[in-house]
Amino acid sequence: MAQLILKPGKDRAMARRHPWIYDSAVARLEGRARPGDTVTVLSDSGKVLGKAAWSPESKIRARMWSFDPEAVIDHAFFKRAVAASVARRQRHPGLARQDGVRLIHGESDGLPGVVVDRFGAVVVMQLTSAGADKWRDAIVNALVQATGCEAVYERSDSDVRGREGLEPVTGCVHGALPDALTIVENGIRMEVDVVGGHKTGFYLDQRDNRLMTRELASGRKVLNCFCYTGGFSLQALAGGAASVLSIDSSGPALSTAERNLALNPSLDAGRAAWQEADVFSALRELRDAGERFDMIILDPPKFAPSAAHAERAARAYKDINLLGFRLLNPGGLLMTYSCSGGIGVELFQKIIAGAAADAGVDGRIVHRLSAAADHPVGLSVPEGEYLKGLCCEVP
Ligand code: SAH
Repeated sequence: MAQLILKPGKDRAMARRHPWIYDSAVARLEGRARPGDTVTVLSDSGKVLGKAAWSPESKIRARMWSFDPEAVIDHAFFKRAVAASVARRQRHPGLARQDGVRLIHGESDGLPGVVVDRFGAVVVMQLTSAGADKWRDAIVNALVQATGCEAVYERSDSDVRGREGLEPVTGCVHGALPDALTIVENGIRMEVDVVGGHKTGFYLDQRDNRLMTRELASGRKVLNCFCYTGGFSLQALAGGAASVLSIDSSGPALSTAERNLALNPSLDAGRAAWQEADVFSALRELRDAGERFDMIILDPPKFAPSAAHAERAARAYKDINLLGFRLLNPGGLLMTYSCSGGIGVELFQKIIAGAAADAGVDGRIVHRLSAAADHPVGLSVPEGEYLKGLCCEVP
């Protein structure tokens, strides 16, 4: 097995158990390794620090599979790691009863580059690192064993694969997909398009926040921006919202949203309106038309994939949030999110504070929001905390 030797002092990150080894930390590779091969990681003084996957094309040159110097990375390793991750969800009462649950959340579950969501009997897997890609068969077998699922569908079509020198891979890798796939999330039935939907087909990370929307929506006139397939909209209706206007730029997402509404006949469809539009201009049109709302949800796509995009992203967040504050009735709630890894919690709060100040309102934070429990954040991997949200009330 090839040996990756770190530069002097670069074993400090290892002591913090951070799983990434950047190219700048690598002194040399002794021996030969192909992309995804397991390498032994050593400090410059020759101390064995663990085992990692070699990613020669990436700035993150290696990702730790284990900090145990004795660890063997083989089929049994993945069987144990996958089973443990699945068992953690089963032990959590709030997650065990869910149809849709993230089973593996990458680095934070000890499996760098591996993301797995379960939707009923279907498991969707996304591999984004050379190491994860190499162990595809082991991971699939382990998933089938740990879950007893009927199908595993691979959605390894994320852009980040390019940075690892990997081509997109999609398709069924076990069993066959059912004709139509739906899940029930906190009482609401939702279609999941694992083939054509965003990411793995559905945004499980917002589950708890959609439930909170339901709890706060009663009697309110709601505006849901970036609604995708209507998750927040339908929970707001279930919570007794007076009306819900939902906006998204994707026609197919809105069609799914309307089908989702039809899948839930207990909801009053007469209270829902859908608009295909760019949110940035739609908010201005609503402002110019003198419209006002009692609850506004802003859940935009990732404006800042990394810190390098933070400044431009900050302007975009400020823009929509400023308009959001202006469109609120007295006592209104702004439920605002960022899923940008490049925008930290503190910076996000600063942006929202700036938006409120420019809108001339004294907002206050009533809830701090984050991803659900099946998206844990490893204490050694703070980068895992990508989703942050604030529920702000205005006077
Ligand atoms: N809140 C959703 C997830 C939102 S994902 C849920 O709970 O499931 C972000 C959505 O923003 C996507 O559906 C995408 O189509 C939409 N989108 C991206 N840019 C947009 C824009 N400028 N205007 C309107 N919608 C946009």
